[in-house]
Amino acid sequence: MARTPKLKALINSKCPRCRRGDIFFSPVYSYRQKMNELCPSCGFKFEIEPGYFYAAMYVSYALSVGETIIAGMLTFWLSGKSESPLLYLGVIFGLVLVLSPFNYRYSRVILLHKLTPRIKYNPDLDKE
Ligand SMILES: [Zn+2]
Repeated sequence: MARTPKLKALINSKCPRCRRGDIFFSPVYSYRQKMNELCPSCGFKFEIEPGYFYAAMYVSYALSVGETIIAGMLTFWLSGKSESPLLYLGVIFGLVLVLSPFNYRYSRVILLHKLTPRIKYNPDLDKE
């Protein structure tokens, strides 16, 4: 029985319980990301309680802060220590816009995989 590694399941946005079923059924950069209500493989309900995904906003915020700091440091380094606030605002605002679908998806996936201790991986469900 081949177990799916947790990191692989997280990167591929797979169900945290069986690591087989897709959490989203549309690509990350599609017009509108759609999430499965239930895991297509094991039937796990992703929104485990009403309003569960509000907590993903905090994860998304943390992702955005990390990306913003990295973008600011790279802009500083690549622009030869520029002090133009417009350059930094433009780069950071553009980056946050471009990465918002990515943050939307991975904030929910990280919340499901890493930040909800009561969701346990079940290797018996991780089969063809
Ligand atoms: Zn599943």
